Amino acid sequence: MTPVPDPASAQRRIIHVDMDAFYASVEQRDDPALRGVPLAVGGSRERGVVAAASYEARRFGVHSAMPAVTARRRCPDLVFVRPRFDVYKAVSQQVHAILARYTPLIQPLSLDEAYLDVTAPLLDRGSATAIAAEIRAAIRAETGLTASAGVSYNKFLAKLASNHRKPDGLFVITPRMGPGFVEGLPVGRFHGIGPKTAARMNALGIHTGLDLRAQSRAFLTEHFGKAGDYLYGVARGVDERPVKADRVRKSVGAETTFARDLLRWEEVAPALAPVFAQVWQACTRGGHTGRTVTVKYADFQQVTRSRSGTAPATQTALEQTSLDLLRPLFPPRLGVRLLGVTLSSLDAGPDRDAGQLACRVFREEHHDDDDEDQHGTDREGPRHRRCPHLTRFRIATP
Ligand SMILES: [Mg+2]
Repeated sequence: MTPVPDPASAQRRIIHVDMDAFYASVEQRDDPALRGVPLAVGGSRERGVVAAASYEARRFGVHSAMPAVTARRRCPDLVFVRPRFDVYKAVSQQVHAILARYTPLIQPLSLDEAYLDVTAPLLDRGSATAIAAEIRAAIRAETGLTASAGVSYNKFLAKLASNHRKPDGLFVITPRMGPGFVEGLPVGRFHGIGPKTAARMNALGIHTGLDLRAQSRAFLTEHFGKAGDYLYGVARGVDERPVKADRVRKSVGAETTFARDLLRWEEVAPALAPVFAQVWQACTRGGHTGRTVTVKYADFQQVTRSRSGTAPATQTALEQTSLDLLRPLFPPRLGVRLLGVTLSSLDAGPDRDAGQLACRVFREEHHDDDDEDQHGTDREGPRHRRCPHLTRFRIATP
């Protein structure tokens, strides 16, 4: 079988920009004493977790989502600093402003990563590669930080490309290279395949991209449901998902932050009562219905969990689903300082296709990946002011 990239997708020009060891690099930028030392951003206490590790720390095997105890065992000289999310958010906005010079089609994945579609750029530099190079130079000049960039003809390959020459790298995967690039890749390295799915694939004898390509579409759909089509495509270097600049705005959401960290499960439902009320009120007022419930939970980093129903959520379902999604996160390793609830997949119409569903499955999986950094970090970017029981409210519709 000779996989041939779809001609339409071969014409797109996609860039994935990913800041290098983002939280840790910001800390090293702002405090010269931290430069060159193995650094972990996160809680150092007994139950603490590493949110991000500097490259010096990674050489010792320290990585994000690792318990602080393990990290310290691997690297006794590891220096811990508390995260400063306000600063990370500000830098993220600075980077976003740089990206926005080139295209309005920007899809952030987290505070430190985004896809750009530069097929029809605002500033043409002759090639997507030239734009990526200019973006990296601007990020370095204006933030003092390095970013890696991947350039390709779809999102899947652009993300693989940015990771290929990390840190401070630029890599291009051309349509000719695409199918071959995924052949030797372990399935666990595929974006959208989390550790659980990877284990299931391995059990089925699927270890690499080449193994995945040997499977029929029917087989993949049977075993991996809606994600089957996505997997069938990416195994061939084909990924038709568009860069969706407006994705996160098709939702109604509210969140609350706590002056005193929340520790007990019993506190959750009362704390969320005003949040539920606001989300539901806005839905009623705007005539919205939605099928996807997303909860946001933050201790030192943000975690989101989503679940979609087949029918629009009722008020009771919204509340019950939110609590069901949060329950497994308790007791928390650290105190919880923020909780949020969002209803999306609003006014689901006939345009909801399998592609969108696959995309959602894929995003949920992503939360379980041990990614570069930003483990389990919220896609929309956190809001981090700490105010006593301040409930923030946001409504955005297409
Ligand atoms: Mg990164």
